[in-house]
Formats: sequence, C-alpha cells, structure tokens
Amino acid sequence: RRAGIRETLLAINKLAAKYYYAQLKSEKGKTAHEYLTGRKLSEDTIVHFGLGYANKYSDDLSRYLKMKGYSDEMIIQAGLASADEKYGLHDKFWNRVMFPIMDANSRVIGFGGRVMGEGKPKYLNSPETPIFDKSRNLYGLNRARQTRKPYFLLCEGYMDVIALHQAGFTNAVASLGTALTAGHASLIKRYVQEVYLTYDSDEAGTRAALRAVPILKDAGISAKVIRMDPYKDPDEFIKNLGPKAFEERISKARNGFMFSLEVLEKQFDMASPEGKTEFMKEAARRLGTFDEEIERNNYIEAVAKTYKVSFENLRKLVAKMAVVSG
Ligand code: ATP
Ligand code: MN
Ligand code: MN
Ligand code: MN
Repeated sequence: RRAGIRETLLAINKLAAKYYYAQLKSEKGKTAHEYLTGRKLSEDTIVHFGLGYANKYSDDLSRYLKMKGYSDEMIIQAGLASADEKYGLHDKFWNRVMFPIMDANSRVIGFGGRVMGEGKPKYLNSPETPIFDKSRNLYGLNRARQTRKPYFLLCEGYMDVIALHQAGFTNAVASLGTALTAGHASLIKRYVQEVYLTYDSDEAGTRAALRAVPILKDAGISAKVIRMDPYKDPDEFIKNLGPKAFEERISKARNGFMFSLEVLEKQFDMASPEGKTEFMKEAARRLGTFDEEIERNNYIEAVAKTYKVSFENLRKLVAKMAVVSG
C-alpha cells in the first residue's frame, strides 16, 4: 500500500534528522560540534535533542533523500529543499547547526537551523507543511509533558529550552519563532494550568510577555512572569548564574497582571499626584475587565496594597471607569 502524504513527510523529516545528526558526529561536523560545546551543551544534551549539522554543499541532503527513494516533489513538500531551474534541487538548510522540532509524540515535523556565529538570518525555520503547524506545536513539549511540575516554563528560543532542560528544568517549552497563539495556549492547557513566561529581557521580550498573558488567560491558564535581567535570556542566565539562581527567580515570579501594571507604570510620572492618578485610572479600567467579582476584588486588593491606595477608593474608581468606558 502507498503511504499517505503525512506519513511520507514524517518519514522524510525523520530521515533528515538522522542524516543531520550523523553529519554532526562526522569529521565534517567538527566545527558545528565545537560550536555547540562552546555554548556549553554536553554530549548527552546533544544526543537528547538530536542536534545535527547541515553540510556546506547545497544539495547534500536532497541527494541523500533521493537516493533513499523520495521524489523531488516530496522533498520540496517536506520543506527541506526547493527547485532551482538551473541547478535542480537546492537544500533549504546549509552550513547550519540543526534543531529537529518534534511534536508532542516525538515525531520530527520540522527544523530550526542556526548559523554558527554571526550571519543572517540567525535562525532559519522549516516552512509550514501539512505536518508542521507552527501555531499548534511547541519546542520541547515532547519532554516537558513528561514532567510532574504543574506548570511550564515558556521561553523564546531553542537554545533557552535546551539550556533549561540541561540544568534540570525539563518543563521548558518554546514557540517556534512565532508569537504565542491561542492554538499554543489550548495545546498547553492539555498538560498544565499554569505558565511561567521566561522571555528575553529586551523590549521585544517584554512586549511578547504582555501579549501572551491575556492569550493564556483566555485559555484558562494563569500566567506568571520571570525576568532574566541582567542577562539576555534564560540560556545566558543559567550559564552565568546557574540553576539555583534560576530557581529563585521562579519563586519570585510575578503575577501576569501585576507585571503588566509594572510595565504600565513606566509611562507615568508616579512621583506626581497627576501622574499617579492617571496611572490609577488606567489600572482601574483594566481591573474592570475581570468579569468574575471575586477575582476582580482580589486584584483590586492586590493593586491597592501595591500602590498604597485604599481598597474602597480603588473599588469605586473601577466601577466609575467601567461606566465611563461603557
Ligand atoms: P541564540 O542564543 O542562539 O542567539 P536565541 O534563541 O537567543 O538564540 P533570539 O534572537 O532571542 O535567539 O530568538 C528567539 C527565537 O526566535 C529563536 O530561537 C528562533 O526560533 C526565532 N528566531 C530568531 N531569529 C530568527 C530569524 N531571523 N528568523 C526566524 N526565526 C528567528
Ligand atoms: Mn530575542
Ligand atoms: Mn534570546
Ligand atoms: Mn540566546
């Protein structure tokens, strides 16, 4: 019987992962291997995540897959090559360190490839294919789902997930070079009810965290935020300060809503009465978006305490803002 398209694409991706892995272990993959150990990945970790190397030749993988009996068309559909009118099949990835991306059942569905050192684009990812839906898969989920922790650590990049797993935080996952979607949130909800956002400490990471909080909340997942400053991201944090310090950050994680107010604060002159009043109005408006009365009151209490205003005054302001903004 002929295999269906999905099965064929899965088989091709699996074969490609094995091929990249073998390349990394070969003499040709020496620089790539050194790149990974230079980033403090152990041999165990490299094997664990099936990391690999895509060779310098631009049709290396394609030729191998063809030799294994796969058609040009299928290799292209798998997102691993494109057709070049003049030169025939042309590999998508070359001279990159390869991160196989697996679905929740550990089947390879795509790849991320990183240049070694500087160079653009830094990461290249497989295109979406019939088996690779970026908004319904998370890097590291196949392992994170096996942990007993009641929450996931959600970070930005492949290297973050790998560094965290290596340090013992095997509940880390990352989206695949895209922003968090409702699809990701419902996927997460199948396993845990709580997420600790561990995004990069730059502005983009902060903005991404602010956007992720309501998406998670809509899926019924409570969100906390961990900051990685003074380091860039979890990978660098762990490398410099180690797992104990990371554990401390976890225990000091801030509630997603309270975090969003901390970011909001920066837009106001909190030292002046006018500035603080304007800030409290916006906070009150946001507090009004909690439909559940108990939840709303709990947050009003927390905000009143944090910003040193009375619960009653804030409660009235929330009611007033709700009328104002309809
Ligand atoms: P590294 O530590 O290797 O520099 P990183 O994960 O810290 O990588 P970031 O620039 O923070 O890199 O990007 C986070 C994630 O976003 C990456 O893991 C990758 O999935 C995705 N990404 C980054 N750059 C690109 C790019 N140019 N194109 C597509 N996706 C990208
Ligand atoms: Mn970043
Ligand atoms: Mn980063
Ligand atoms: Mn990084």
